[in-house]
Amino acid sequence: MNLDLERIIIDEIEISRRVKELGRDITKEYQEKETLLICILRGAVFFFADLCRAIDIPILMGFVSLSSYKDGTTSSGKVEERQKLMADVKGKHVILVEDIVDTGLTLEGYGANLLSRGALSVKICALLKKPEQKHDIDIAFKGFDIENRFVVGYGLDYAEHYRNLPYIGILKKEIYS
Ligand code: 5GP
Repeated sequence: MNLDLERIIIDEIEISRRVKELGRDITKEYQEKETLLICILRGAVFFFADLCRAIDIPILMGFVSLSSYKDGTTSSGKVEERQKLMADVKGKHVILVEDIVDTGLTLEGYGANLLSRGALSVKICALLKKPEQKHDIDIAFKGFDIENRFVVGYGLDYAEHYRNLPYIGILKKEIYS
């Protein structure tokens, strides 16, 4: 285990098992639909790559960067579009793939934005969900509920570090305080 972590909360085997289940759920629900999966960069990158390969229907892929966090460990309260979506959402069933939903601020409004651009439907697939969700968003496909602590690994970072850990763990408080 990386020594900056307090403990691992989800290991590689659990992640892989759950991602395959989510892939099967999406496969069942999106038969015969033109489906576009959008990766919310950068935290969802490994989740997105594994999830797409667990889906057994033709899909399209898009990438966008939205962020309500800067380099810290608490939400700044402001969503910033750092990198624009290049894929055309018109006439597509969209699944937004996110690493973690905390307050829900990042995704609130973005779904409506995609619908106004012609998406036929927009659903959210999030690997992790914290208990503090304040904004009104529905997570159609959810990996795990976790406690309200700052986690890193499997794409999630702290100031760009720890993304390549193959598991998800709680960062020791002394690392960021
Ligand atoms: P929300 O808008 O739901 O409050 O925040 C979602 C975004 O905040 C995530 O995409 C992620 O970038 C960041 N975030 C929230 N909680 C954590 C956490 O525990 N660890 C990391 N690394 N990022 C987090």
